[in-house]
Amino acid sequence: MSVERPTLAVWKFASCDGCQLTLLDCEDELLAVAGEVEIAYFLEARRATLEGPYDVSLVEGSITTAHDAERIRDVRAQSRKLVTIGACATAGGIQALKNFADVDEFISTVYATPEYVSTLETSTPISAHVPVDFELHGCPINKRQLLEVLTAFLHGRKPNIPSTSVCTECKQRGNVCITVAHGTPCLGPVTHAGCGALCPTYNRGCYGCFGPMETPNTVSLTRRLRVLGMDDRAIDRVFRTFNVSEFDEVRADE
Ligand code: SF4
Ligand code: SF4
Repeated sequence: MSVERPTLAVWKFASCDGCQLTLLDCEDELLAVAGEVEIAYFLEARRATLEGPYDVSLVEGSITTAHDAERIRDVRAQSRKLVTIGACATAGGIQALKNFADVDEFISTVYATPEYVSTLETSTPISAHVPVDFELHGCPINKRQLLEVLTAFLHGRKPNIPSTSVCTECKQRGNVCITVAHGTPCLGPVTHAGCGALCPTYNRGCYGCFGPMETPNTVSLTRRLRVLGMDDRAIDRVFRTFNVSEFDEVRADE
């Protein structure tokens, strides 16, 4: 008698595909994953698609069109568990830069025939539209963390993903802090762990590609960045990257 495997669906919204590819990048583990789940909908991996409902849906990308705002509600309705993956799905992505600008001006600057472009004025995370069971941060996400999240949901347990900062990973690697030792600005103190402190390990300041950690102390880091010589405009720019869909300007009196 065959045992039915849980079904997995992978969905794309406004994004570059990098986070979906992280699953295909799990070369050593991919066969094991494919043995545990029925890949029911994953256009990058399988031509055939199966009808929902799906046990676990991974959602990549942000909502930038009225059609996608409708489609994500349909995906949610078909998914027992819905996990968003990557900066676009969890925070709006690089395309959320338009949230701070005049979108019509952007369109007429970028496209030769702007009248063909139909878009919302904002790029928003999936959680702004439907309930989400778990958000996995990163641009792109880390494959070990993705496998942990998948395994956890398939076994009905909570994912074991640390909510600490990149600084914690620096300490685990025995790195000398580049901010303290060299005065290099680094967003590690407010950035979600997951990359293994990749940039500081090579003497480069973290620029926050894993998004904000739980309860980040940005006020304290802002003071430190000022001591390191950054003005408010420069500080706004480092905080307002692809993990931010809403933003308050840095106040000089903070
Ligand atoms: S180098 Fe950056 S991430 Fe590492 S400990 Fe210092 S501030 Fe934190
Ligand atoms: S920018 Fe920060 S979070 Fe991203 S890889 Fe570098 S150290 Fe890690």
